[in-house]
Amino acid sequence: MNARPLLNRRLDGLGTTIFAEMSALATATGAINLGQGFPDTDGPEEVREAAVRALRDGRGNQYPPGPGVPELRRAIADHQRRFYGLAFDPDTEVLVTAGATEAIAAAMLALLEPGDEVIAFEPFYDSYAACIAMAGARRVPLTLRAPSFRPDLDELRSKITPRTRLLLLNTPHNPTGTVLTDEEQRAIAALAVEHDLLVVTDEVYEHLVFDGAAHTPIAALPGMRERTVSISSAGKTFSFTGWKVGWVTADAPLVAAVRTAKQYLTYVSSGPFQYAVAEALRLPDAYFESFRADLQRRRDLLADGLRAAGFEVYRPQGTYFVTTDITPFGEKDAYAFCRALPERCGVVAIPNSVFYDDPDAGRSQVRFTFCKQDDVLHEAATRLRGLAARPS
Ligand SMILES: *Cc1c(COP(=O)(O)O)cnc(C)c1O
Repeated sequence: MNARPLLNRRLDGLGTTIFAEMSALATATGAINLGQGFPDTDGPEEVREAAVRALRDGRGNQYPPGPGVPELRRAIADHQRRFYGLAFDPDTEVLVTAGATEAIAAAMLALLEPGDEVIAFEPFYDSYAACIAMAGARRVPLTLRAPSFRPDLDELRSKITPRTRLLLLNTPHNPTGTVLTDEEQRAIAALAVEHDLLVVTDEVYEHLVFDGAAHTPIAALPGMRERTVSISSAGKTFSFTGWKVGWVTADAPLVAAVRTAKQYLTYVSSGPFQYAVAEALRLPDAYFESFRADLQRRRDLLADGLRAAGFEVYRPQGTYFVTTDITPFGEKDAYAFCRALPERCGVVAIPNSVFYDDPDAGRSQVRFTFCKQDDVLHEAATRLRGLAARPS
C-alpha cells in the first residue's frame, strides 16, 4: 500500500472530537456527563407532537425543497423580525441547513479561497477549525483570556491583514459564556466595514442570555447586513439537538453562495422536523422567557456547586456552559484532569485547552454543562466536593 497518509493534510491533527471522546468515557464509566451540551429532557411536547403529525401526514417524508420548506423559511423570517426587527425575504434570504454545523461548513466552503485568513475567537467551537481547514483557509485566533474573556479589539485590529477575508463570531460564546456588548459589536462592525470583511456569526445560543441582558445580531448594525451571514439552530433553543435543523439568514447573494455549497453537502435534511420547528419558532414569548429563566437558575445551581467544590468559576453571561479553572486543586493540565475525573469522582467534563491554538491560554480550564436536570446537577456537585478531600 501507498506510504502516503490516508487522512489528507488539511485534516491532519483534527482526530476525534473531544465530545465523542468524553461522551464515550461517560458511557464506559457510568459517570454523570456534564461534557457534551445536550439537554437530558426533550423540548416542548407540542413541538414533538408537531413532528409526529408532520410525519403521519406525509409532510417532509420525501426530499423537502433545497432551501427548506416554505413554512419554516417564513417562520425563520418572522422570528428575525419579531425578536430583532430584521426583515428577510423567506424565498431568497433564508436557508435551512442540517443544524448550525452544516451552515458553518457551507459558509466556510462557499466564502473562502485557499490561503484566506479567518479571524475567530479562541477558545473555538471545535467545528470552526475543521471547516476553515477543509476550505483550505487559515485560522487566526483572537484569544479570549480569563478571567473576563472579553475580546481585545486593538489586538483584533492588529490581526487584520490583506489576506483576511472573514471574521467568524460566536455570541453568546461557547465555551466561555461571553456575550458581546453592543459597544464591542459596533467596534467589530466598524473594522469589518473599514477592511471590507465578511462576518459569519454563530448565534445558536441567541435565546440563552442571562441576567436581563439581550442578544443583538451584528447584522442589525449599520453597514453589516450586506456582509453578514447569521447562523442559528433549533437544537439549543428548543432542546432538540438530535433534530439538526439550523438556518442561515443573510442578503440574497450571500445566501445564494452558501446554498451552492450546502446543496452538495446534505442537499436537504430533517424533512418532518422542519415543519415542527416552524411551529416552535412561533411559540409565545412566555416559552422563550421561561426557558431562559430556567437555564439561568441551573447555571446558578451548578456554578455555586462548582465553587463550593473548590473550582475557580467564571460566571457565564449566556449559553449552556460554565468554564472553571482547576488551579485551586493544584492541577495544571485540563485534559489530564478530565480524563481522570470519571474515575476520581464519577463526573465527565470537557477540557477547554483543546479549543485553543495557544496552549498556555486555556491549559487549566474545564467546561461543565448545566443543561441537565436539577437532581443531576446536585449529584454532580456532591461528587465534585470529594475532589478537594482526595487529591489525585
Ligand atoms: C451546538 C453548537 C453548534 C451546532 O449546532 P447544531 O444545530 O447542533 O448543528 C454550533 N455552534 C455552537 C457554538 C454550538 O454550541
